Amino acid sequence: MDTTWSGSAKKLLGNCLAVGVFVSEKGNEWGEEEKSETWAKVEEAMAWIVSQASGYNADVNFECLCLNPDSDTILADLSETGASSGSEEAAHQIAEQLEYKDASDMMEQLKEQYPSYQIHIIFLLNNESIAHHEDIHVGGEGQSIDVCLIHKENGIVLSATIAHESLHSFGAIDLYQKGDEEGDIKTAEYAYKKFPNDIMIECEDLEGSEISELTAFYLGWHGDPKPWYKKAVNPYYLTVLNFLMNNHQYYDEQGELVVSQEEELLRYSFEEGEFIRIKLNDDDNLVLWKQVPSGSEDAYEFWEVGTEGEFYVLEGKTDKYSMMEMPIDAGMSYVIDKFVEPETRDEWFEMTVVE
Ligand SMILES: [Zn+2]
Repeated sequence: MDTTWSGSAKKLLGNCLAVGVFVSEKGNEWGEEEKSETWAKVEEAMAWIVSQASGYNADVNFECLCLNPDSDTILADLSETGASSGSEEAAHQIAEQLEYKDASDMMEQLKEQYPSYQIHIIFLLNNESIAHHEDIHVGGEGQSIDVCLIHKENGIVLSATIAHESLHSFGAIDLYQKGDEEGDIKTAEYAYKKFPNDIMIECEDLEGSEISELTAFYLGWHGDPKPWYKKAVNPYYLTVLNFLMNNHQYYDEQGELVVSQEEELLRYSFEEGEFIRIKLNDDDNLVLWKQVPSGSEDAYEFWEVGTEGEFYVLEGKTDKYSMMEMPIDAGMSYVIDKFVEPETRDEWFEMTVVE
């Protein structure tokens, strides 16, 4: 789903903090020298991002903080971190070993220590696998945490991989070919032709890599999206790009949604409360859902809208929200099926495609 500018790291502007943790399995810990070499790669990657930002006159300051420079965090099985559920579980286990209550507590404490910083986490995993980025949902104030899971490739960690995954934390999307459909192939071809050196296509070497204007737009480095961006974006991400192109002007530098006016459009009641559909800033594409739990008047929750296929998907924005208690994560279709009278369903579906 669209998590652009919604995690613990938002637009890539202002003060940013890359928090690194060395993770390994028992008996196969990181070597001391290897650790300092790897940490230098983290710093190199963040410095590279800052230098790219200056090319767009974007003001970015990156600091790097290692939470365990002198010891490893040991997991029973590093291979489990490949799947989303595994990453989430790993994040909690790692946080616990670092003496936080859980991953959410870790993020809250980091935010207290670095109040004006946007924070993303980098797990440096001492095994061979494919790096990826996860937006890990947690309860509590931290909402969701941007986590990069960086593994070794042929025995070493690559600074270009750290940069690529870190940029995902701030909204950048992959520009390489994701699938075998005709659309995937065409858009990837266009991206390869237009900006073959973009770090979101290839991430082997920082030298010779760049952040193209399309990726820069996703990061919030300029507010001038061109119509041709759509050609270079994989169909998988097109809805997200459309949403962002239409609405980027409503996000402030920190990636927080700025609402100047709101209008209530629809209200649906169900036994636990009500869903209200709100149009923001007089823009048909920018819609929020509020849930008003029954028995409470003003303690409503905000949900930011994202899209998945043709349905709105809701994402919790407050600490009162729990995906488990309200099974919204299956998408708006679930909510509609569960709570909306059949005769009014069309009204909801009509408004679900963001173009
Ligand atoms: Zn990627």
